[in-house]
Amino acid sequence: MYRPDTLAFPQSQAERLARLAERMQRTGQWSPAQSAGRRWTIGCVSLEITQRCNLDCTLCYLSDSAEAVRDIPLEDLFRRIDGIALQFGPNADVQISGGDPTLRDRAELSQIVRYVRAQGLRASLFTNGILLTREWLQQLAADGLNDVAFHVDMTQERKGYSSEADLDALRLRYIDMARGLPVSVLFNTTVFAGNMHEIAGVADFFVQHNDVVRFASFQLGADTGRGTVVGRDPIMVTQTSVCEAIQRGVGVALNFDALQGGHRACNRYAMLVTVGAQRFDALADGEFVARVMRDTASVAFERDQGLRGARALAKALLGKRHLWAGFARHALRTLWQSRGQWVSRGLRVPPVRKISFFTHNFMDACGLDSERIDACVFMAATVDGPMAMCAYNAERDRYLLKPIRLASGKIWQPLAVAPDANGEIRIPLKWLKGKPRDAAMGERKALVQAHITGVTQDEARRIAEESR
Ligand code: SF4
Repeated sequence: MYRPDTLAFPQSQAERLARLAERMQRTGQWSPAQSAGRRWTIGCVSLEITQRCNLDCTLCYLSDSAEAVRDIPLEDLFRRIDGIALQFGPNADVQISGGDPTLRDRAELSQIVRYVRAQGLRASLFTNGILLTREWLQQLAADGLNDVAFHVDMTQERKGYSSEADLDALRLRYIDMARGLPVSVLFNTTVFAGNMHEIAGVADFFVQHNDVVRFASFQLGADTGRGTVVGRDPIMVTQTSVCEAIQRGVGVALNFDALQGGHRACNRYAMLVTVGAQRFDALADGEFVARVMRDTASVAFERDQGLRGARALAKALLGKRHLWAGFARHALRTLWQSRGQWVSRGLRVPPVRKISFFTHNFMDACGLDSERIDACVFMAATVDGPMAMCAYNAERDRYLLKPIRLASGKIWQPLAVAPDANGEIRIPLKWLKGKPRDAAMGERKALVQAHITGVTQDEARRIAEESR
């Protein structure tokens, strides 16, 4: 069993970086390209503000009891946010997620975003977008939201969409909803055998809309949680095949090794720059990229800062003369290679944009690799403290169903269902999704059959149980 990180809080940002660097070193992941422990103290921390969801994804990571878990009191969420700030320091990324966080009370969601920002952290909203409106997103941006990440893919089985290409219409709606608002727009796509053949097209779609989309994350589906898809195709769906599909889609070879973020088996990262309609690998010169990353590790520039971020980098570079020649060489080469774009615009400056690609390789609940858990940079804020997301996914109820003592001394019970006379918890069918819903439906059918055939109900339950 993997436990949350309960070490005493670090006293300084240097100590936070050193702790992560030490984890990278002991897991063999410390390299010149490693940004974990150099640039940042943690990749991100997921803060689940509700377990309820308005979809029923075939690769859902939520637990069987999720829909029967009540929303955690704000007081405890704020305690967890305080813990994230102490553990990981300024600008740590907090993913406000769920379930779907837009199912939480609207005023409370605003309070959560504001509290995250007040602690000096970054706030990202991870949503399927169903309930979100432009006006609401605008309000959240005013509350201080940094990013909105839309989860859209075929695992969600949204009505009226039969392929990833069909879903582009929905993605476009979400892009238009966020266009012009001061939040970075991200997209999450779960990759599984059923959509692998369309990943190239999805990647190309994101580049075509990189005036708004800043970050595209492709997450390899894992066998964990209530989702009904069991087992990943080990040949078709791999980090390598997903990276290859992205490159096929964008039509450019991308260097997914220039920068390392945590464990190589978990995360891969690449960046594409567009000059007009022409596309370039921004990290092609891996050695130079790693040098810039190391020598500017202390400069804070965020993906949502746009020009401000570029200015901060430029300012930092003023004092790094040894990097000037490299930048000039790369800028001139890009200028020359994109000359067609300038010429076709009568020598007017073509739009220059970037988009980041990220692959995330979640682990199956029954196949956790302790080295990767130790090197984890994507944590969940549990009741007991932050822990590796994969380890948390493998036994969510252990943490989610723990009663919480509030400041008033009152004990808050997470489950909305009381145990029956035998001490058993039976979650009503209306609150079941995924595998447990299918199993309950099987049991229900068996009970109806038993009624017709005269078999006892206990016998019918036993038969249904055996047939699962
Ligand atoms: S251990 Fe799991 S959650 Fe953590 S970085 Fe690796 S794949 Fe992601």
